Amino acid sequence: MFDYLIRNAVVVDGTGNAPFEADVAIRGGRIEAVGKLADQPAGQVIDAAGRYLTPGFIDVHRHGEAAAFRDGYGKAELAQGLTLVINGNCGLSMAPIQGPNRQEILDYLAPVVGDMPAGCDFTSVAEYKQQLSRVPQRIHNGILVGMGTVRGCAAGFYDGPLNDEQYAFIHSLLKQGLEDGAQGVSLGLGYAPECFYDTEGMIRSLEPLKDSGVVITVHMRQEGDEVVEALEEMLTVARALRTPMQISHLKAIGTRNWDRCVPKMIELLRAARAEGIDVTCDVYPYPAGSTQLIHVLPPEFQAGGMDALTEALLDPGKREIMKQRMKTGTDFENISLLVGFENIQATSLRLPEHQIYEGRNIVEIARMQGKDVYDALFDLLAAEHCTPAMIDRITSDSDIDRILSEPYSGVISDATYPENGLMHPRVYGNIPRLLEHYVRERGLLTIEAAVRKITGLPAERFCLKTKGHIAPGMDADLCLFDLKNIHQTGTWQKPDQLAAGMDTVFVMGKPALLEGEFTDHFVGQIL
Ligand SMILES: [Zn+2]
Repeated sequence: MFDYLIRNAVVVDGTGNAPFEADVAIRGGRIEAVGKLADQPAGQVIDAAGRYLTPGFIDVHRHGEAAAFRDGYGKAELAQGLTLVINGNCGLSMAPIQGPNRQEILDYLAPVVGDMPAGCDFTSVAEYKQQLSRVPQRIHNGILVGMGTVRGCAAGFYDGPLNDEQYAFIHSLLKQGLEDGAQGVSLGLGYAPECFYDTEGMIRSLEPLKDSGVVITVHMRQEGDEVVEALEEMLTVARALRTPMQISHLKAIGTRNWDRCVPKMIELLRAARAEGIDVTCDVYPYPAGSTQLIHVLPPEFQAGGMDALTEALLDPGKREIMKQRMKTGTDFENISLLVGFENIQATSLRLPEHQIYEGRNIVEIARMQGKDVYDALFDLLAAEHCTPAMIDRITSDSDIDRILSEPYSGVISDATYPENGLMHPRVYGNIPRLLEHYVRERGLLTIEAAVRKITGLPAERFCLKTKGHIAPGMDADLCLFDLKNIHQTGTWQKPDQLAAGMDTVFVMGKPALLEGEFTDHFVGQIL
């Protein structure tokens, strides 16, 4: 007898093939059969009544490794149909963190990942998984080894070339992380301290991955004026390492780069793939991003970490240099020059006296303080020891359309989880945004193409062999919904609203969400 029989579903199976009508049977956490099963016995029968049944959705780019310890974690994810997420992206993983630079690394991660959970210490990926295993999970969680964190353990925020010993230490941490079961490796070349690698040094740091088949996700060195060159750099790295690579959140920042750089990058990606380089990309379906607010500063000032940067922000001479660099520089991701301070909102402010600025853009804050925009920004950052985050409106909708239209592009959220403050709506709304806006309202993607980008494609990319498809033998991670009800409830002003329209979500054969209500099935696994 089946545990569950879902009858009369329109199955979108994760392959990208057209939807088909079928019954799907579940037993022992797996999909047991797909077809005409009406007359077969089952513990419980669910009439899908023509609703879509898809594999559980997968988001391979989130920053929730610390959030996974918080109360209520998994609800925002499950309500949008996510059954599996991979954290530790952009080089910024919270494991493995060890050695004398621990606190500096944690301070640097805070605007993206949040704080180290109370009573925890993730000196290795194994230690991370062990500690997470004590917290019941609604969904499956994986983690990548972040190479920024690893470099931080070896050399702090030192900006010079590394020595043999430091490379050896980086290699040992990387190999240990993979042995401990990380799903891959993430790079954050736009961030300190990885921005201090030249191409050769970066390749050397990744030496153990040569011909490994381990996937590398890449937040590139630049997403602004030199984004095309940054992609060329990564294709050089992919050629040298011969291991799968996924370019994270592909985009071109800045009005002058819109509609110009993404078409070039798509051409480069297509050519590289035709040449046999195993490279893909992903995109988040919003024209705004979110990361550390210090990301608007010239990266060279991040040498020495947050203490040194805070000092520089208070030093009149260095402030002046920063200001001039930001007014004209094109050799770094100069976000304020590219999109304007009015498109950069300060968030996750911690000081009580700064709460009136939460969610306001830098121009507004400067006006409220009667200061020049640069002074307002530098003062705010220095007073907050550089830990604020930002939501920055940086990309064009037409570029998002172009990337979504490529069959090898995945969809991710890049959800960040700072401890407090206004969050990006993608944390709660990424999947509904994709299904509601790009499938139902605009028809840019068919349902099967969109579903593939958040099921079969990422599962294949990350070698999750029992995930991402509806077929006998696969894990019974499933979503049941009516497309017309899917809705991103959160807004830019009030983003932390559970998504609407997902009816039932199975995780390992158990309904973790049943007809819109959370159940007490906590069967999520640590990958
Ligand atoms: Zn990133």
